[in-house]
Amino acid sequence: MIDPWSSAIIDYEKLREQFGIKPFADLLDDIEEPHPLMRRGVIFGHRDYGRIVKAMREGNSFAVVTGMMPSGKMHIGHKMVVDQLIWYQKKGAEIYIPIADMESYSARGVDFETSRKLAVEEYITNYIALGLDFEDKDFHIYLQSENKVVEDLAYKLAKKVNLSELKAIYGFSNSTNLAHVYVPLIQVADILHPQLEEFGGPKPTVVPVGPDQDPHIRLTRDIAERFKSTYHFISPSSTYHRFITGLTGDKMSSSKPKTAIFLSDSPEVAVKKLKTAKTGGKETLEEQKETGGVPEECVVYEMLLYHLTPDDKELKEIYRDCREGNIMCGQCKQDAAELVEKFFQKLSLKREKARDMAESILS
Ligand code: SF4
Repeated sequence: MIDPWSSAIIDYEKLREQFGIKPFADLLDDIEEPHPLMRRGVIFGHRDYGRIVKAMREGNSFAVVTGMMPSGKMHIGHKMVVDQLIWYQKKGAEIYIPIADMESYSARGVDFETSRKLAVEEYITNYIALGLDFEDKDFHIYLQSENKVVEDLAYKLAKKVNLSELKAIYGFSNSTNLAHVYVPLIQVADILHPQLEEFGGPKPTVVPVGPDQDPHIRLTRDIAERFKSTYHFISPSSTYHRFITGLTGDKMSSSKPKTAIFLSDSPEVAVKKLKTAKTGGKETLEEQKETGGVPEECVVYEMLLYHLTPDDKELKEIYRDCREGNIMCGQCKQDAAELVEKFFQKLSLKREKARDMAESILS
């Protein structure tokens, strides 16, 4: 069982085998200009992504749905979803972003006013600053608590779901509050509502998620089947990306500041944090020169892989130099720190400019 509200580290291979998630690499050759996260294996799995590939190839409409749960600060790992959304926007997708204030309230105890504030100041501001186009005609963002269509659909869909099923999927106990028990149905409706007739549905829909969110995907796909004759839903597709490792070597988490570089950090703070990151270096310089480092166990390398080195060739060279002991961690960290500094300098300027627009989005 996977708990979408815990921060446990997940064994990706086991998850793929256990829940029938297909390897993403098998589809790579069919995708025109795949996203770097796809090429580099960060997006490692999918369900029914062939439908999305076909829609992109044939120029048919398709939707991307991915929620944001405003319960804390946005860290650099969260940027991955925005990067994917920007890519999908260029591919002509309709984008739907539910702000999961109901989930935040029921699962994290965050009140609605705080959720709204966090959504604007943290998430929407950063999404705009990172380059997502909020003015695109096919872009939609909403608060769950204010979307009547989603609310109505969730209620109707709940008719064919029972408590024991939710207990089996999510591990709910007799003491779980009922708002928390109900909120997965809101998420199911978030994912399926772009397929309603009034939104031009049915249409292929993809949900890019971290693997911890797979229980929601499985539930949504099951419910889509149960309501096929009523709404003609196409079972939603999904992709799964690896989590970025935290600076300490644990999972990066907003609730554990020592593990995370926040997007609101100043360039100086971000650089300082990067310099504390766990590396895959050896005990001594001699040993590293002789046997090389281990980029697979290095948080600095992961930062380059996920965010800082767009050029595949350059990344391969860093990997090889590390493996062959041609580069030492001190120098490598210094090079990465310069990239982090530049990235955060640009981002903080863009965040300043994004603020006013962010304020107006939900009003
Ligand atoms: Fe990581 Fe660079 Fe050290 Fe290799 S040389 S382990 S990539 S910091």
